[in-house]
Amino acid sequence: ETLEKCVYCPKLCRAACPVSNAEPVETLTPWGKMSMAYFAGRGDVPIDEVHAKPAWACTVCYGCKERCDHKNEVGPVLLTERAELFERGVAPAGAVRAAERAREREADIANAARALGSTSDATAALVVGCGYLVHHPEVAQKAKAVTEKLLGKPVRVVESCCGLSSHLAGDAPTFKKRAQALAREVEGADQIVAVDPGCARTIQVDYANAGVTVREPRLLVDIAHERIDAFSKASDAAEPVRYHDPCQLGRVLGRYEEPRAVLAKITGEPPREFERNRKMADCSGGGGVLPLTYPEASRGAANARIAENERLGGGKIVTACASSLRRFKTAGADADDLVTWLARGLGI
Ligand code: SF4
Ligand code: SF4
Repeated sequence: ETLEKCVYCPKLCRAACPVSNAEPVETLTPWGKMSMAYFAGRGDVPIDEVHAKPAWACTVCYGCKERCDHKNEVGPVLLTERAELFERGVAPAGAVRAAERAREREADIANAARALGSTSDATAALVVGCGYLVHHPEVAQKAKAVTEKLLGKPVRVVESCCGLSSHLAGDAPTFKKRAQALAREVEGADQIVAVDPGCARTIQVDYANAGVTVREPRLLVDIAHERIDAFSKASDAAEPVRYHDPCQLGRVLGRYEEPRAVLAKITGEPPREFERNRKMADCSGGGGVLPLTYPEASRGAANARIAENERLGGGKIVTACASSLRRFKTAGADADDLVTWLARGLGI
């Protein structure tokens, strides 16, 4: 039904899509991707890599949903399509590489988590996120210190990856294995704290769909907001910052004001805004394994956001998820994670 609504739609959402904005091709609009999935399901197009690839032209940013009268959720539908196409062996090379990479780096993630040091009998479990652990270990270290300071007790860093990368690549069997491993690891924890909103959403929503039960994680940004009085103005807060709404934290989990309030407390003034912000914010292009499946579109989306920041007067971009942080940094932007500022505000 969701697919059919798109097929017969006048494409009201097309301006929202970071992928088709960066690569203006009809097949890459939300309508084009959903139509391809619809026709593939009906057997109207061959099931091969060429016709499969558009299913991976999505960062699962939910931008189209905000402009859709039906509130159609294109991203999740395309994720289901990815899993089917992956199983049939027609996933594009970038997706296969993303799935392999996710499988190969299991040990690296566990080692990086172990390197942060855990108190074995700690009752709170911290899911840092593999994007931070592998690509931004300095942020991961600060995330642990910030969480422990705000909770007032030690935490145990979870060594299992939540499996989001496998899920996004379309590798459903590996995703389920990861979910089960994480569920075993956090069993008995009195609370689970998630730093990355992508992990939080995966555990909260996608695990249930995969038949894995884990208690709902608390977001670190929520804990920071609840404890906002614990933060002071940072001594090195002279530079202006502009807040980027990560898609998973904003449109999916609905946290718009919490990160802004904490950031304002630490910098001494409300962060600068992008023209399109909160639920209409543009995606960084870093999610959905897009950097591997459509690298040009991914770079184009990041460049557009960075250019907008410069056009509006600049400032350090502060984001709150590992994939957008990496996307902005690899595109050459001066970007920080919110966690870095939380640490500054706590004097860590
Ligand atoms: S998501 Fe909504 S607006 Fe976009 S093509 Fe589908 S039905 Fe149309
Ligand atoms: S969820 Fe985002 S990336 Fe995917 S089709 Fe919609 S607007 Fe495009």
